[in-house]
Amino acid sequence: MLEIISKFFDKAKRDTGEPIIVTSQYHSLTPKMISRDARKVVSVLQDAGYEAYVVGGAVRDLLLGLKAKDFDVATDAKPAEVKALFRRSRIIGRRFQIVHVQFSREIIEVTTFRSNDTKSGDTRKKHRLQSDSGMLTRDNVFGSLNDDASRRDLSINAMYYDPGDNSIHDFAGGMADIEQRTIRIMGDPATRFREDPVRMLRVVRFAAKLAFSIEPRTSKPMHKLAVNLEHVSPPRLFDESLKLFMSGQGLATFWLLYEYGLFAQMIPQLSGMISDRNSLASKLIDHAFTNTDLRIRSSKRVTPAFIYAALLWPAVQKVAAHYQDRGNSPAYALSKAAGEVIAKQIPITAIPRRFTIAMREIWDLQLLLPRRGGHRAKRLVEHPRFRAAYDFVLLREQAGEELDNLGDWWTNYQNAGEEQREEMARAVGDSGKNPRRRSRRKPRSSRGQLTDG
Ligand code: ATP
Ligand code: MG
Repeated sequence: MLEIISKFFDKAKRDTGEPIIVTSQYHSLTPKMISRDARKVVSVLQDAGYEAYVVGGAVRDLLLGLKAKDFDVATDAKPAEVKALFRRSRIIGRRFQIVHVQFSREIIEVTTFRSNDTKSGDTRKKHRLQSDSGMLTRDNVFGSLNDDASRRDLSINAMYYDPGDNSIHDFAGGMADIEQRTIRIMGDPATRFREDPVRMLRVVRFAAKLAFSIEPRTSKPMHKLAVNLEHVSPPRLFDESLKLFMSGQGLATFWLLYEYGLFAQMIPQLSGMISDRNSLASKLIDHAFTNTDLRIRSSKRVTPAFIYAALLWPAVQKVAAHYQDRGNSPAYALSKAAGEVIAKQIPITAIPRRFTIAMREIWDLQLLLPRRGGHRAKRLVEHPRFRAAYDFVLLREQAGEELDNLGDWWTNYQNAGEEQREEMARAVGDSGKNPRRRSRRKPRSSRGQLTDG
């Protein structure tokens, strides 16, 4: 059925800004696929005389037979008008004012149609500021449905579904691109990427997530414009980094980011170390993403701290080696390196403090887990970050670091009973102790100090 659609959605149509309206016999959606709450929001708005559609990711994912993550509604009602229609709703955001309508099971996000129109008069310019790099800094001009569609990023994200009459308004050939499994940015790629460099990350994210290929016209300017990511605010880039790395397709995403020079902008301290595919750093990242993807797909917990700890570990090791070469203790060298590497990353992706503390604990424990003789092992397994640190040891060994089968030892230790554990700790004996002198800066007499971040 989609083939029919793509045939009459030719290039000419793409550029007119007029949608084709795909009626129910030509697509696979049914109103039942939309959550009851989202349908309710649409019908209340429509009954009040407004236009309203389910838009964006939900339409795209449902057409692909995937589960919709959440339902966004777009309407010509202004935020205050939306708010007036729903008792449990509030207006949020400054840059983009949207309305959250609260239901018992979910929140439906309602966005007023916006415009991307640069040619309009003075009053509009006030609401739509553009920086020197061409980036949009404020964007609160309301517009028509057509305006709203043309300011979206990808053709597959610019489809509007009306559960009332079961039709899809397809503005940019999204149906055809779904069928051909193509990621296509709308409008002039370079202009759209300059307006908002995060769109390059979104191109890559959806290509990896959906296993779509990127249209060459879309990918062409990406490498050159990757540097524009430096204009994106660090908190936003951190959020985007989590969507990229924790999508369940982290490995594929990472490779695309790398290919287009985007990764070098995001984690510059690592990207210089992975040009050699056989390096420990390359293997570590490969395994880190492979493991994370598996965990996410089997609904296990993953923490941003672990991923960032892995991404920055090669740099931490390199800097730590430098300090150790200058005669510092391993513990001091590691702590100093950790501080420096994190300080360099924060201005790019603003990793919240609770995660940087956990990252430092995971790294600190890498020095402590080999020292498991006597009573130490017993104390270490009780450390709140033990599990992550142990997983990190396994990861390092998978990547080829030679750690004297430390991972196996800890695996066996955890599986052993009380008596056997004591036996194991005794057997390690002195070899589990640290041969070097103790660092005076970080005494290790109590467990509490392991958490020193
Ligand atoms: P998902 O939520 O599954 O990651 P999504 O497509 O719903 O995917 P959101 O970030 O929730 O992504 O955005 C909702 C919609 O808003 C998108 O489908 C797209 O139409 C539009 N959009 C989001 N970010 C941008 C952007 N940076 N530039 C232009 N349009 C955007
Ligand atoms: Mg969404």
